[in-house]
Amino acid sequence: MRRIPVCIPSLGKKEYSYILDCLRTNWISSSGRYINLFEEKFSQYCGRAYGIATTNGTSALHLTLLALKIVPGDEVIMPTFTIASTAFAVIYCGAKPVFVDSEVDTWNMDPSLIESKITKRTKAIMPVHIYGHPCEMTPIMALARKYGLAVIEDAAEAHGAEYMGQKAGSFGKVSCFSFYGNKIITSGEGGMVLTDDKRIAQRCRRLKNMSFGQKIRYRHEEIGFNYRMTNLQAALGLAQFENIETLIKKRRADALLYNRLLSETKGLTLPVERPNTRNVYWMYALLVNKDFGLSRNELMNRLKRRGIATRTFFIPMHQQPILRKLRLISKERFPVAEDSAKRGLYLPSGSGLERREIEYICDCIKRTRRTT
Ligand SMILES: *Cc1c(COP(=O)(O)O)cnc(C)c1O
Repeated sequence: MRRIPVCIPSLGKKEYSYILDCLRTNWISSSGRYINLFEEKFSQYCGRAYGIATTNGTSALHLTLLALKIVPGDEVIMPTFTIASTAFAVIYCGAKPVFVDSEVDTWNMDPSLIESKITKRTKAIMPVHIYGHPCEMTPIMALARKYGLAVIEDAAEAHGAEYMGQKAGSFGKVSCFSFYGNKIITSGEGGMVLTDDKRIAQRCRRLKNMSFGQKIRYRHEEIGFNYRMTNLQAALGLAQFENIETLIKKRRADALLYNRLLSETKGLTLPVERPNTRNVYWMYALLVNKDFGLSRNELMNRLKRRGIATRTFFIPMHQQPILRKLRLISKERFPVAEDSAKRGLYLPSGSGLERREIEYICDCIKRTRRTT
């Protein structure tokens, strides 16, 4: 058995031919037909009017907060259990991330804990659809309406996921996606901002392109950024997009196979798919319980010795040394996030994974358990 990395993308003939087309036609920088096509097609797929391609998911988040005029003194509510990008984007704006604990089964931000975090300074709520399972958007949207807050979805892990039949990334005022190599579809590096708000879309376009003057190009009225995606990346992204439903079906089928093969194994908590949702299983994530007989780290080491790569869950934001140093966190505890972070890992999950590899991985997990 070859070594099994956590994620291999599926790249095909179309990816080659679109990229070669960029090279042949000299459209290798950030103008060109693939950018527009990718923005159009992906925003349409998510049910949104505007798509603004960016250099990566982190810059998409930053650009969104800039366009929404999040400034020092503002607070933005988000899960503590997320990747640093979500919190860093808020910090880039000089604003304060305010953290919320997770749900035990989906690891998403627990909507019932949001309201107590809202203050006069709160400007936005940023739900993150963790590992491909959409957040409970109904209560989140209701709270946002009640308090006049913007909702910014971090949908970087949830391309094509659905809540109540509606796509992740179509609920908030703005939503952000990443197309990093391990995401459901990839452009190598890349990201996108989606919105139905024309003014926000225009602000994002200006800010991502150095805020060049509208009448006189080199006369700037505002600090801008170079967050432009290249045509080469968009070519890759478009080729991937044209295959998105197949890629999602593959991830879902792999997750179901994992579920089936691991369902009898004692001591593991497997990922869920709540009613009325479509989980796209970006990563097949699970928890190792006490009665498994081995700790999470021990299991990961055993699998590594058999050539199987895994990753731990995120370390919650309220436990990040840099946030402590910046005095952005208090002594508050977040028991669910802390517990899942200690016990959680994800297994190889990319769309390039083969059926016999999943069988081998599950076999190794079961054997590991028996031999302890
Ligand atoms: C991957 C990811 C990002 C960041 O995307 P990059 O393209 O790596 O900058 C942001 N948020 C979440 C939830 C992610 O998983």
